[in-house]
Amino acid sequence: MDLFEYQGKRYFARFGIPVSPGATADDVDQAVAAATAAGYPVVVKAQVLVGGRGKAGGIKLARDAEEVRTHAGAILGMDLKGHRVRRLWLEHASSIDQEYYASFTLDRAARAHLGLVSARGGVDIEQVAASEPDAIARIHIDPAIGLSEGVARQLVEQAGLDPVAHDGAIGILLNLYRCYVEGDADLVEINPLILTTEGRVMALDAKVTLDDNASFRHPEWDEFRDIDEHDDRERLAASLGLQYVGLDGEVGIIANGAGLAMSTCDVVNQVGGRPANFLDIGGGASAEVMANALDVINADPKVKAIFINIFGGITRGEEVANGIVTALGRVDIAAPMVIRLDGTNAEAGREILRTVDSARLQTQPTMLDAARVAEALARAAAEGAA
Ligand code: GDP
Ligand code: MN
Repeated sequence: MDLFEYQGKRYFARFGIPVSPGATADDVDQAVAAATAAGYPVVVKAQVLVGGRGKAGGIKLARDAEEVRTHAGAILGMDLKGHRVRRLWLEHASSIDQEYYASFTLDRAARAHLGLVSARGGVDIEQVAASEPDAIARIHIDPAIGLSEGVARQLVEQAGLDPVAHDGAIGILLNLYRCYVEGDADLVEINPLILTTEGRVMALDAKVTLDDNASFRHPEWDEFRDIDEHDDRERLAASLGLQYVGLDGEVGIIANGAGLAMSTCDVVNQVGGRPANFLDIGGGASAEVMANALDVINADPKVKAIFINIFGGITRGEEVANGIVTALGRVDIAAPMVIRLDGTNAEAGREILRTVDSARLQTQPTMLDAARVAEALARAAAEGAA
């Protein structure tokens, strides 16, 4: 789960990383109230899950309420690289002397954590890495040993930060590493990490990716889910516990297993169709899960045909078939369905499906055949509608 800047800063604050006081706002009046609370001058910052907001016009300085109104009005609703701005973060503006960079992430190839620090912050770090690789200090951290103060000092010195910033930066690195490990993040990044004209070191931006596999031990993460960038389909799927990703096409896809679901998307593309989604109902999926999956696909008005691709292993063919029959009894599935059912108890499943009206559902012997039929049905429906 990717956090918005304001959420990331809240997370940072929990681990003792200094950030500016501020508040969120969803409209212009709230923005003025937030600015008053933060204290002028303030920065008005678009909350979207993309970087480079500054250059794209999503970050503005405001000296009074009038300027907050102007900037908040302009930024709310703005499209930043395909992300609609629905929330702002306003914080007391900092007076910047230097902009640095700091991050921790997992280096899978090295089987260790990777810490990066650079004196060239505030700009795209990938660009710095490409043009001036030596400007980035890197260190691998053995997870069993952790980050010591000595190693943090080495990073900061190697990166060439202003000596005035050393102690502040070392303190932040130690806390940032705790945030990364104890906070169960896959990535924590501060860009820019600033040295203020008053000589303080603090986080001016926050990029945090939480490890969803650890969510079971973080009930407090629920607060981060109140506004997310998921569309309605993804919200419904998440509430039903399904592994779903919304896409732009017309062929709804249900498969058991992430690998099979991906192959199903590929084969739909291969025959000239476009997947409407990725949906993995998992191994051992019950009739109930299949019915829920069909509900989610059915709620997507763009779906013109549904391709159900099941290879029975733990998931038994007759369970899948019963799920489809249950779903058909529960909701009126708008699009025609094509199913490829193979593996454990496939024949028993097909037997059950023979009782279903063949105009609504047909079985095909192979994945490729089923993809071709689903694509043709989707195309026919789209042409019929046009
Ligand atoms: P990003 O462009 O999406 O990464 O957004 P950032 O939060 O990193 O802000 C981009 C740039 O805006 C920073 O590198 C700063 O130069 C500038 N900026 C952000 N907040 C402040 C502030 O409080 N004071 C000043 N002077 N500049 C700021
Ligand atoms: Mn930034």
